[in-house]
Amino acid sequence: MKPSFPFRNLVPTFFSGLLDDPILLLRIRPTGHHLMFDCGQVHHLAKRTFTHLDAIFISHAHMDHWMGIDSVVRQLIAADKTVDIYGPPGIADKFEHRLRGYDWNLAEDYWSSFRVHEIYPQRLDRTLFSGPDSFDRIPLDPSTREGEVVYGNKYLEVCADSCDHRVESVIYRINERPVYLIDDTKLDELKLKPGAWLGKLKSCFLHQRDFPAELKLTQIDGEDEREIVVSDVPGLVRKLSKPQTSHSIGYISDTGFTPENKEKILRLMQDVDLLICECTFLREAKDRARTSWHLCTDDVNELLAALQPAYFLPMHLSRSYSRRSEELYRELKPPERTCLLKLPLQLTPRPLLANEIKWQEYSEDE
Ligand SMILES: [Zn+2]
Repeated sequence: MKPSFPFRNLVPTFFSGLLDDPILLLRIRPTGHHLMFDCGQVHHLAKRTFTHLDAIFISHAHMDHWMGIDSVVRQLIAADKTVDIYGPPGIADKFEHRLRGYDWNLAEDYWSSFRVHEIYPQRLDRTLFSGPDSFDRIPLDPSTREGEVVYGNKYLEVCADSCDHRVESVIYRINERPVYLIDDTKLDELKLKPGAWLGKLKSCFLHQRDFPAELKLTQIDGEDEREIVVSDVPGLVRKLSKPQTSHSIGYISDTGFTPENKEKILRLMQDVDLLICECTFLREAKDRARTSWHLCTDDVNELLAALQPAYFLPMHLSRSYSRRSEELYRELKPPERTCLLKLPLQLTPRPLLANEIKWQEYSEDE
């Protein structure tokens, strides 16, 4: 059964099987655009998925989370857009090394560019790789970070923190921005006549624009109508707003289970509705989890008990468990309120062997 997530505008799709390299794709329903979290093997994603891609968020540059970036460049090269890439410090150098492995002497004006943002605690260092200029590296001014937020548009914001996986590994939280809902009973209480002004306020709220300095409204008192001027428009917006909860998704890729990492995870992922988290090892391999700085089922159970998400998707199970994957679900003990989600082992068909390829002799009779 497909889970019925509480998100209004966000459509998450986990584009990998349980044993595959992880890719989380997030569609923003009103625009049809996508965000991608981690970028391992991406050859099974339709081209349309790439052309609507706005930003990619990389946890760390281990090959299984990053090697698909070449395919992203390949698919987007002629799309005439700028795609943002977020990741830990050093990701701009790594991206440049990938690009320098190819010849770009045929660059055209309509080639896409990539803007790389390296995530530091207080700032984002930014570098442009310009497609029309054969991916020349152009340093941009760094941007300061407001709290944990690294990216935002009118429908969502992405927050990040950096965990230790013996390399920096960034964990991400996606918060859906609340829309502005009008409480009709408050409108009646204030005796205000609805009109185009309500749409204007909603639009200011959604696009994060300043509200008008004043509003000329009609107040209805029995049979009488009178014009009033409201000068405290933000105050009116607050009075009329219908309380609502905003929903969020947590994405935890490879990370060690240290006290510092655990504290960061619990802080950033508090109250997420959908938690997507690596669980590379079963309980018996806790030692291997510790030496490779990954999580095992016991670690994940501890996080789940503290976070109590409505939905939990374990991912990135070690391929050494290809015949034992059911043990993962038996060892995971999510809290009662948490719905445990299950992935297929692999998402794409098995690759072909040479003897499965059929050649034929050409004959003119065909
Ligand atoms: Zn890793």
